[in-house]
Amino acid sequence: MSKRGSFEEREGLLTASDQYDPFDDPFDKELTIQPDDEDAWPRSKIVKTATGFIFLLIFGAFARVLLRSTPPSHPNLSFNGDYIRSNGTHDFRRTVLIVSIDGLRADYLDRGLTPHLLEISKRGLRAKSMVPIFPTLTFPNHWALMTGLHAESHGIIANNFWDPQSELEFHYNQISSAWNPDFWLGDPMWETANKAGIITANLMWPGPPRTKSGSSPSYFVPWKDKVPLSVKLHQLLTWIDLSFNERPQLLMAYEPSLDQAGHLTGPMSLLVNKTLAQVDLFAAALHDSLADRNLTDIVDVVFVSDHGMTDTSHPTLIYVDDDDMLGEQGLNAVVHEDGWPAMGLRFNSIQNESYYLEKLLTSKHPHSEGFNVYTKETMPPRWHFAHHDRISPVWIVPKIGYALTTRKEGDVGMNKGNHGYDNSEHSMHAMFVAHGPFSAVVKDLHRSSFAAWLPWKNKGWHSTSDDTYVMDSFPNVEIYGLVAKLLGMENHASHNNGTKGFWDKYF
Ligand SMILES: [Zn+2]
Repeated sequence: MSKRGSFEEREGLLTASDQYDPFDDPFDKELTIQPDDEDAWPRSKIVKTATGFIFLLIFGAFARVLLRSTPPSHPNLSFNGDYIRSNGTHDFRRTVLIVSIDGLRADYLDRGLTPHLLEISKRGLRAKSMVPIFPTLTFPNHWALMTGLHAESHGIIANNFWDPQSELEFHYNQISSAWNPDFWLGDPMWETANKAGIITANLMWPGPPRTKSGSSPSYFVPWKDKVPLSVKLHQLLTWIDLSFNERPQLLMAYEPSLDQAGHLTGPMSLLVNKTLAQVDLFAAALHDSLADRNLTDIVDVVFVSDHGMTDTSHPTLIYVDDDDMLGEQGLNAVVHEDGWPAMGLRFNSIQNESYYLEKLLTSKHPHSEGFNVYTKETMPPRWHFAHHDRISPVWIVPKIGYALTTRKEGDVGMNKGNHGYDNSEHSMHAMFVAHGPFSAVVKDLHRSSFAAWLPWKNKGWHSTSDDTYVMDSFPNVEIYGLVAKLLGMENHASHNNGTKGFWDKYF
């Protein structure tokens, strides 16, 4: 294993000792009666104290029964999709703003460069990380966030691939394919919102402007590179400031600069740190603008990313046209090559497919530790990356620290940073930070001394020394269900790969 791999893989942000213990709640300690300074207590005091104890015991038991049947009341618990709330001057329906910061690796938040995002997460919520789908690439993951589906179900199996049914190539950076609705399977959350009669606005979220069924976001700003964050902020606020009947309740926004920096100079670079700080200022400006409008209890802001980033400045190169891999002839027998950095292979005949698969599987390559060869049958089930025509029959999947190439291509055009690797790698993990009425409820429930008595368990919570509450890592296919729940559109939600009831314990 190369040193590069271990260099990138750092410890998670929390250790086991930081785990939240519901029985070690400081608030509980205040209920414990402290003895007086005097050594001996008068009889009357003992009687009073004993009576107090008995009262507490009875009250405690009674409260416990009550709490088991009804959750604590909180004004935000009833603030669902239909409820209308005023910010003091205008009426609002519950609103969700989901912002994707491409390539924001989960542990970037521990660099001391994102004070505002951390402050937002302290007042709201943060997860230790959010686990992307495999492959950990931009387009598959942005569509997973929108649809709650794995790649084998939503069809965007890589940033580039060949579809055997239509015999068309998908290329993320060509509008002719990237906007072709036939490639994009499943219902994005804006389509679900349309069904529920909810107005939506899409600011450059990777995906098509229209789905197969003809559904489009109510407002749509197409992708354009190098749009300043101030312009994006202005657009979002323009939508928020629309009149009640025109205003979107679901807003989606996308920002690519951090991913671009990560690819260009690597995750440990000054450029990444600078861009990270800029993105943090954008989060602060967005948060403050909503607070200025008195919308903190009305708009849920969910900051996510699609995947992480690892250093690929000095990879061990695996030449697929070497004789201990496919060989030149084998490479020539490949008719379609999908994905990057993993490589999906389609051969010109079934015979060649079996022959070269066997060749790869029995290879005595000097760096055989650096990659795996899979078929749809042997693909790790946790990737949910097998059951679709678009997934090639043979895949070479490199590990972190390794890169597939050919003798002709060498390391030309390779970036200093990359992603797309196994989604169990921590450096591939994405971020989740949320703030708004939803997170306020969760926080209140968690903070309450009664939380320990609740019939459901907040097992995902960890308390750190600076009073930040951090959720356990969770899969990004749960985000669709979260937004559906927040906007009260669960009845219109499509079948997805999220866990049924995943967010119930937080509401
Ligand atoms: Zn990305």
